[in-house]
Amino acid sequence: MFASASWSQSGYNAVHWLRNEETKSRLSALAVAAIIASMSEPKSCNAALAARDLRVNWHPCTQMREHDARLPMIPIRHGEGAWLIDADGRRYLDCISSWWSNLFGHANPRIAAAIAEQAAKLNHVMFAGFTHEPAIRLAEELLRIAPPGLARAFFAGDGASAVEIALKMSFHYWHNVGRCERTRFISLMNAYHGETLGALSVSDLPLYRAVYAPLLLQPIIAPSPDWLDCEPNESAEEVAIRRLQDLREILERHAHETCAVIVEPLVQCSGGMRMHSPGYLTGLRKLCDEYEVHLIADEIAVGFGRTGTMFACEQANVTPDFLCLSKGLTGGALAMSAVLTTDRVYEAFLGDYAANNAFLHSHTFSGNPIACAAALATLAIFREEPVLENNRLLAARLAERIAPLCDHPHVSGIRQTGLIAAMDLVADRKTRTPYPPAQRRGLRFYLHGLQKGMLLRPLGDTIYFIPPYCITTDEIDRMVDTATEGISAATG
Ligand SMILES: *Cc1c(COP(=O)(O)O)cnc(C)c1O
Repeated sequence: MFASASWSQSGYNAVHWLRNEETKSRLSALAVAAIIASMSEPKSCNAALAARDLRVNWHPCTQMREHDARLPMIPIRHGEGAWLIDADGRRYLDCISSWWSNLFGHANPRIAAAIAEQAAKLNHVMFAGFTHEPAIRLAEELLRIAPPGLARAFFAGDGASAVEIALKMSFHYWHNVGRCERTRFISLMNAYHGETLGALSVSDLPLYRAVYAPLLLQPIIAPSPDWLDCEPNESAEEVAIRRLQDLREILERHAHETCAVIVEPLVQCSGGMRMHSPGYLTGLRKLCDEYEVHLIADEIAVGFGRTGTMFACEQANVTPDFLCLSKGLTGGALAMSAVLTTDRVYEAFLGDYAANNAFLHSHTFSGNPIACAAALATLAIFREEPVLENNRLLAARLAERIAPLCDHPHVSGIRQTGLIAAMDLVADRKTRTPYPPAQRRGLRFYLHGLQKGMLLRPLGDTIYFIPPYCITTDEIDRMVDTATEGISAATG
């Protein structure tokens, strides 16, 4: 496939050239159209679509210049279970669930039917002053399955807006109860909570944050309990205890000005799939209670069964004051998010209209009925099928298949929590020396995967697997075999 991939690249360049204004003026419009048509059809629909795309679209998280030569742009025409199929009919196993959102497969028939049915009934109605059964049922169902004590759901459109809502609600709560000096947040080193200014403020990844720093809130950054940072012979639990002590010292100094601590329970995903012990969350809840600050759990990536339990907080028996959900909420079919919170928080916003203490935050598409229908279909699958049990079998297979990579001279830090597994490509395993970033080893790994029909998009040199729950054990085997070849190709 590499040959055809580079063909489509040169196809794209040629189409680009043909669309160039100067070229156009030299060739008649008809001739150009004929050449483009003959190049694109039937040889490569991919090339033609990629060329059109790159003339008009600006893609997320991408240096667009790379698409000139280095990176293919792949037009996907349809999805089928764990597979994506491009315009030329090539298939890719979606090993990362399209940014960790897909749970039960692309174009899942049950979710698709729920969407179609709802769309034929009611697309949207404003969610202030109006409501509808899908939103009522979804809130009831989410609160039923969430950690005990969460009693209210606030809907929004995507993950970052859920984080904004949790931050604003926490701040506003303290304002409403007369603690106006509380204006700051504590977040963890290596955290990621989204790209809007508030969410980016409490994130700690310089790649995304540095340039915007002058625009952002100044959070207090606590050390991460990530056990990859442990001392020799230290266990994950011991790292957690040490990091809780660090956090206690921070709270001792800053609790009086702090609204909330925000964490990604169990796995910091964008920050390189860094994992910690559930004991950290248990201790964190206790510290937040002791110092009277809120706990915001950002389960946007890890919620809905990804870590082995429905919500990661369950593994620590913890109820946060705010639980942020998105990505898997609709099974990956539609943009939607929710913030669940407690009656205690909710009640602090009740009062006379004139007191102006209501939460006036709004998004036009809050509680969108079609998105609610997709989420309800997703939750029905969880209720009716043995999803978590099946995930445990898949996770065990994944663990078994990646274990031999421990011996690879250029792999370090193999780690797994439920259906999230990751490892780092390193120049030297013993010293854990990374490759110089300019060598783009992760990119080589990504390109190798595409060539072999696998979507395995690493985070820098951290490669990871977050497959949809509908993946089979055979597909897990293929995925890990291809990744193993890709590691050799990228590090050889
Ligand atoms: C993806 C993600 C977000 C942001 O969600 P978007 O829908 O991309 O805005 C926030 N927090 C975590 C932990 C995420 O993984």
